[in-house]
Amino acid sequence: MSRVWNFSAGPAALPEVVLQRAAQEMLDWRGKGLSVMEMSHRSPEYTEIFEKTRSDFKTLMQVPDTHEVLFMQGGAVGMNAIVPMNLLQGFEQAAFVNTGAWSKKTTKEFGKYALARVLADNSAPHGELAASTYVPDCTNLVERVNGQGMAYLHYCDNETIGGVEFNGQIEALSTQLDCPVVADMSSNILSKTLDVSRYGVIYGGAQKNIGPAGVTLVIVRKDLLNRALPICPSAFEFATVAEHGSMYNTPPTYSIYIAGLVFEWLLAQGGVQWAQAQAEQKAGLLYQTIDASGFYKCPVPKPDRSKMNVPFTLADESLNSEFLKRAAQAGLVQLKGHKSVGGMRASIYNAMPLAGVKALVEFMQAFEKDVA
Ligand code: PMP
Repeated sequence: MSRVWNFSAGPAALPEVVLQRAAQEMLDWRGKGLSVMEMSHRSPEYTEIFEKTRSDFKTLMQVPDTHEVLFMQGGAVGMNAIVPMNLLQGFEQAAFVNTGAWSKKTTKEFGKYALARVLADNSAPHGELAASTYVPDCTNLVERVNGQGMAYLHYCDNETIGGVEFNGQIEALSTQLDCPVVADMSSNILSKTLDVSRYGVIYGGAQKNIGPAGVTLVIVRKDLLNRALPICPSAFEFATVAEHGSMYNTPPTYSIYIAGLVFEWLLAQGGVQWAQAQAEQKAGLLYQTIDASGFYKCPVPKPDRSKMNVPFTLADESLNSEFLKRAAQAGLVQLKGHKSVGGMRASIYNAMPLAGVKALVEFMQAFEKDVA
């Protein structure tokens, strides 16, 4: 068997030990004679798997008792409708920070429900910086939000396509806001420590740092469970899902089981603190390599660079396909940048070992030497 270094933005690489364990348990989960896929979600065996998964997630994220953890479906894009339907009762508008493709999509969808007020964005170039490549100034956000009757303030903590990541700016001002903060953390959840108590809602699709696609993790402050619009479908209503322990309808049982194995693995490594230290080391190595070369370039300014998704361009764009071809020959795959931005993107989530990033860096240096 030979496995490649997989830099996919998502669905992304999973820890190899998790895949091995899942393979071992595929036909016969712990002597029960059946696969997890074949278990009733209400069986004692699955209840055990589910409870442990939820409890390990709470431990990893240090979720306080004020917040509920929900396992939902519909992905992060589904959340663009699910969040407004759950939080808009009594409100006519919400505030948005737009930093790239994903937050813009959220804002657009919100327009179906109420008035979206974009109070900070990076859609125009800023000095030398191109649009969508930087974190906009958020210092006056509190003044612009407060007193306006905002249902919440939404932002995307890590823009997966542009590689733009917040560094605690919104979390820091959250206590001064008169509305809850809603954060899309699809592509950086479990990669850095944060103070969950400062958020109204945190959500993320699973297919980057959590497990296979199909399950969406939601952390919601309990006092926000009574703000759903009457049209909100029961299957997507936070209060209903919470009341039924995420089993109001059949959850994506197998995706949750794999997420549970990922959480066990992450806890054994040292939890989110370990993930954060790893991310700093891996991203640091990659950005250093890019910055030290005259051939590769990253459009994102240093303080705003994502530690999960590293976008970069080649000095000569006509070499893009040659770069990708040779990279694949060297066992480094899924490095093509998103079609909307071009160039390359290396996604280095928790499951990507330092060795994979070292292999990429060595390849990049050799490629540059060869062609430049
Ligand atoms: N938000 C972000 C930050 C993402 O990276 C993605 C997926 N790449 C989404 C939202 C959409 O997630 P999904 O496809 O699971 O709905």
